Amino acid sequence: ETPLLEVKDLQTGFKIGKDYYNAVEKVSFKVDRSKIVGIVGESGCGKSVMSLSIMQLLPQGIGKVRGGEITFDGKNINKLSEREMNKIRGKDISMIFQEPMTALNPVFTIGYQLNEVLLNHENINKKEARQKSIALLKSVGIPRPEKIVDEYPHQLSGGMRQRVMISMAIACQPKLLIADEPTTALDVTVQAQILELLKDIQKVNNMSIIMITHDLGVVSEICDEVIVMYAGKIVERTDVVKLFEEPKHPYTQLLMGAIPKMDERKEVLDTIEGLVPSIKDMPQVGCRFANRCPKAMPECITVTPELLEDDVDHEVACLLYENSKPLERVGGR
Ligand code: SF4
Ligand code: MG
Repeated sequence: ETPLLEVKDLQTGFKIGKDYYNAVEKVSFKVDRSKIVGIVGESGCGKSVMSLSIMQLLPQGIGKVRGGEITFDGKNINKLSEREMNKIRGKDISMIFQEPMTALNPVFTIGYQLNEVLLNHENINKKEARQKSIALLKSVGIPRPEKIVDEYPHQLSGGMRQRVMISMAIACQPKLLIADEPTTALDVTVQAQILELLKDIQKVNNMSIIMITHDLGVVSEICDEVIVMYAGKIVERTDVVKLFEEPKHPYTQLLMGAIPKMDERKEVLDTIEGLVPSIKDMPQVGCRFANRCPKAMPECITVTPELLEDDVDHEVACLLYENSKPLERVGGR
């Protein structure tokens, strides 16, 4: 079976002054059907830019896909017109974000906003849409949905708002849900509940999820497969069990050390010294992690590591793994 999503050599640039600088540099990966794939890294690593590239939601005139191919469900989608993409967005691929308040419109009721999604993509009347909205709210664990449907976003807690966002995202049973830091703004208990919910709806709807997060704790809870990104590139990819058993890339290893315990979930990655280079100062050769890497060697600044297969289904881009093999499968590199 073909993967649900294949991204090949994706390059996304941002305009600074007159020039474009790449925030995503030749990234390739795939998402299989019914799988949850985590994309992990610090902020500024290109995770969100990548998902906005897939959705064609990059800020106009500033962000631009400059190369590569995005294939969704067997169809190349990166050349689609805005109108064609609109049909796919919200229906086949939908997205949820960190702060639901910014995605929900404060002046309309929850029911009105759910209806909009349903009427936009499905051939039903208003009455049916209302019934369906109530059923959707119920399916994401919202108590008394027939009451909530007539309330406004500010009347709900952060966790409830995120549930509403999830109900909107799954309203048309998308094949792929992209969740960008969906639990980051929530407290620990609510965070765990939302992750449970996402796991459940993945099973019930048999969809795939891309889970974007800076938190490896979230990855361990919910993901099947993990992609670690650093400075616009994939530095490691494998299944979740292998990643935690044997993190290979020094960056992943540092991220592991930075997993907070459940009771002290503060800003995780403060513990890794230094900063992700900005897209303007990205080194053109060598390893982009070299200035922060505790294992850096002299050649790390002259040789650019490529993503290679070091073990079965375990890829890493680091010069320490000199016996790694080039990737063969499609979407590999
Ligand atoms: Fe560290 Fe060198 Fe590996 Fe980069 S290539 S992660 S600098 S050891
Ligand atoms: Mg982000």
